[in-house]
Amino acid sequence: MASQLLEAKVMVESLRVAELQSLLSAMGKDKKGLKKDLVQRVTELLHNNFHPELFSAIQELYDHRHYTAKANSRRSQVITMLTAVEVVANHPKKSCGPVHKPEVHMIKLPFYQTLETIVAPVSLVPTFSTRPQTNYITFCLTTKQSAQIKNRQTKAGVTSVQVVLRICYTESIGVEDDQYPPNIAVLVNGHDCPVQAHYSSNKKGLEPCHPCRPINLTPFVKQITENRVAISWENIGKFYSVAVYLVKVFSSADLHAQLQKNGVQSVECCKQKVCEKLRCNPENEITTTGLQVSLICPLAKTRMSTPCRAQTCAHLQCFDAAFYLQMNERKPSWTCPVCHKPALFDTLQIDGLLSGILQCADEAVKEIEYLSNGSWRAVGKEKECSKTTDLSSLSHKNSSVVRDVVDLTQCSSDSDDGGEAMQREQIVWTHVKNERVRFSKGNVHVKL
Ligand SMILES: [Zn+2]
Ligand SMILES: [Zn+2]
Repeated sequence: MASQLLEAKVMVESLRVAELQSLLSAMGKDKKGLKKDLVQRVTELLHNNFHPELFSAIQELYDHRHYTAKANSRRSQVITMLTAVEVVANHPKKSCGPVHKPEVHMIKLPFYQTLETIVAPVSLVPTFSTRPQTNYITFCLTTKQSAQIKNRQTKAGVTSVQVVLRICYTESIGVEDDQYPPNIAVLVNGHDCPVQAHYSSNKKGLEPCHPCRPINLTPFVKQITENRVAISWENIGKFYSVAVYLVKVFSSADLHAQLQKNGVQSVECCKQKVCEKLRCNPENEITTTGLQVSLICPLAKTRMSTPCRAQTCAHLQCFDAAFYLQMNERKPSWTCPVCHKPALFDTLQIDGLLSGILQCADEAVKEIEYLSNGSWRAVGKEKECSKTTDLSSLSHKNSSVVRDVVDLTQCSSDSDDGGEAMQREQIVWTHVKNERVRFSKGNVHVKL
């Protein structure tokens, strides 16, 4: 509230006398006097009682001024764009105009692989002084593009090769996220094209919420003749660019298969990471405890089948790749559920070591621990060991537990020929005079 008031005061000071007068008369106040008196009067109105309608009127006047100032500074550019709002692609002579904005790079989307650019990013230039705007783009598909769409079409008419419309900001430098302007609507050859736009409230002039997805034009696109796309939007003074691409659409299952094919981090690399972690952790030099990793996906809350994390993640804990991809297919956020840092598709890696452990470890095991000697063991409900009777003379029955310790080198080779007998070392932990003592029973063969 306080910041909103401050913001409003700054905006009021930048308004013209005529604008201040119209504000005051709309609020039923005296509009005579010098500019400083008018500013004073509007500011008092803001201070004494918060009028939402006054605030939005100030915002609107300010936005209009702000936009006009920007437009004037780049007048020559805007004028040349206005003459060529309709861009005709695949007609080299016409499309070589200044309207193409090669500096706009739309962000790479994992679920949409760009095959070809049909209309390179062009600015959505306001042509009317009113807020609602309409811009047109036209394009023709090449016979090759038409064939690509047809070849990928199923009987139900769904195609994995699509013609999509994407919109993003023109203004900032670098790669841009998709963002629709307020009140977006798209007509393709006169047909209403569905746009998935969600608004946080029904306040006017609001941009649809993230994430904005590419708009599928395919069902309305003509294969041979020219296509005309009308984009209706509301001008709030922001600069948008629009482009049309031929894309291959992937499902989360497709991406999962890609990851399994190309994104598996080798057992050796993973072990190295574990060893580095254990060395870096000074606590491990004094205690026998290692690094604990849960086998339960923090997202799905079930046992992982494809444990993965981003290359950029510092932690060992993984999450389930299939579930993570499905989640991002519904709502792309690409954020690591463990460290909450970006975990983009291109940086995802399947943990080869943990994959093997998941295959070896009993279904009941919920958590494992990496030990400083390069092995791992299951952690969980400390079960009383049936063998404790043999060793009852050495320990109190209640405090002794048995844990399975598995040599990591054994595990990786065993997981390859799956289900083979695995060497396990039965270890009995007991407490003698509050000291942890380890008794090894030697190698016992356990049939999995
Ligand atoms: Zn044409
Ligand atoms: Zn992370």
